[in-house]
Amino acid sequence: MFIQKLNEVRDLEIRVTMIDNFNGKNVILEIFNDITEWKKKENKIKESDLMLQVQVKWSKCLYGISSLLVVSNITIEELFYGALPMIRSSWQYPEIAMVKIIYGDVKAQTKNFKETQWKLSVSDQINEKTLNIEVSYNIEKKFLYEESRLIKEILIRIKLGIISIKYKIEMKRLANIVENSLDAILSTDIDGIIKTWNKSAERIYGYSLEEVLGKSINLLVPPDLLNEIPKMRENIKESNSYEIFKTKRLRKDGKELNMNLTVSPILDLKGEVVGVSSIARDVTEALEQRMQYQEQLIKSSQFKSDFMASMSHELRTPLNSIIGFTDILLEKFYGDVNEKQDHYLHNVKTSAEHLLNLINDILDISKIESGKVELHFKDFNLVNLVSQIKIELKPFYKKKKLKFNSIGIKKDTIIHADPIRFKEILLNLLSNSVKYTKKGWIKLDFTEDNENWNFKIIDTGIGIAKDDYEIIFKEFKRVKSDYVNSIEGTGLGLMLTKKLVELHGGHITFTSKLGEGSIFSFTIPKNIK
Ligand code: ADP
Repeated sequence: MFIQKLNEVRDLEIRVTMIDNFNGKNVILEIFNDITEWKKKENKIKESDLMLQVQVKWSKCLYGISSLLVVSNITIEELFYGALPMIRSSWQYPEIAMVKIIYGDVKAQTKNFKETQWKLSVSDQINEKTLNIEVSYNIEKKFLYEESRLIKEILIRIKLGIISIKYKIEMKRLANIVENSLDAILSTDIDGIIKTWNKSAERIYGYSLEEVLGKSINLLVPPDLLNEIPKMRENIKESNSYEIFKTKRLRKDGKELNMNLTVSPILDLKGEVVGVSSIARDVTEALEQRMQYQEQLIKSSQFKSDFMASMSHELRTPLNSIIGFTDILLEKFYGDVNEKQDHYLHNVKTSAEHLLNLINDILDISKIESGKVELHFKDFNLVNLVSQIKIELKPFYKKKKLKFNSIGIKKDTIIHADPIRFKEILLNLLSNSVKYTKKGWIKLDFTEDNENWNFKIIDTGIGIAKDDYEIIFKEFKRVKSDYVNSIEGTGLGLMLTKKLVELHGGHITFTSKLGEGSIFSFTIPKNIK
């Protein structure tokens, strides 16, 4: 019952008592007690009880989601399916609540789920994929303000869950890589005590994990290399970065292993070096194979140069006889030869000379390749040498009416090189210029600086097309053109020239334009003694 006074509704408690024979009458006594304030208090207590119950439900849900992560090897999908009933039952009307969680391609939803308009939805980004959580009712119901806060809390928990699952997967993947690497991977603390040891370390060093854990890294170091460890530790501490070096390590059975080692610091959260990790590759077998291969190479190149030397001797002797006897016939020492015979004898002589040149070049190259050519350095006058070359080439450039100039050479210019080999270089390049120039001129340009004597052989010849640049210094390669084909050549001259320049410590290059001419430049360093 209530009374209304000044538009205010009050709660009243009314007690009714019958009093008999009050002044001869029966009287009813009504006592009104205003219990409004008390009622308010009672309602508040009821409300807060309800709130408490709801809050207990919510924290149970959040705790439940977090505790799913303790389950070992849980997947993101399993996390979602585990969370669905917890979320559903913490809503105000659990029987009609529907829940859906989507992250990238992973999707989980309660069985009764269907799309409706009465929903609460939240989303966030993790690694460029969207995480979305939706709670809905299939009939119109209002959501509490607290529920919209709860769903945000749930989103945070599930996001943390996904991150932690991903992190565990990545750690597992890394651990797998380390464990299954073919290299021995181990780590030590800063005092060199072994802390981790992968399968390959077991295989390569022959010790099991139990045998080495807690032991010093010195166990693996040959006694004469023990000082390497503190030095390396100091370097790593100082530089805070990795080091790569070749060294030796000891197997359990005492065998020495050749190792390629990469050591890097292990840092704590403050960035201080607290240990060292090392990745070691056993290159013993590879080294042995390489040595064997090198020995084979040396042997076969030895064989090749021995073969070439003896073959060229065998070939040169009869070739010289052919050339000599042809000369005698051509000089008509034993009687006249007719025109045709003379022509054929010339052919025999040119072919034999070509063959002899070829053999000499091959022999030279194989000698240089097998390191058998020793240079005999001397001081000599450049003018004299260039004059000799000019005399030798004169018949050829005169015949083609080419001009031959040399510039920059002083009377007293002294060069320090192997005079025979140096002459070969210059003669090869200049005779090429004569050979491959139809008209115009050839020029030898000499300069010197503090470090080098510089030579340029310039011509106005047929030039070389860009496409042919790469073949010029290769053995037996000649530019394919009618003009080049019509000229005597083996394709070995420039290769030999390059090797001779490099033997002197110099280098050779060229520039050329088809139809305009070429410039071959080479240097001889002054400081080679
Ligand atoms: P070859 O015995 O053929 O002259 P080289 O090794 O001396 O052999 O030269 C290789 C090729 O380079 C030649 O066949 C020619 O095509 C090209 N070559 C060399 N020197 C010149 C030059 N001065 N001008 C144009 N082409 C050249």
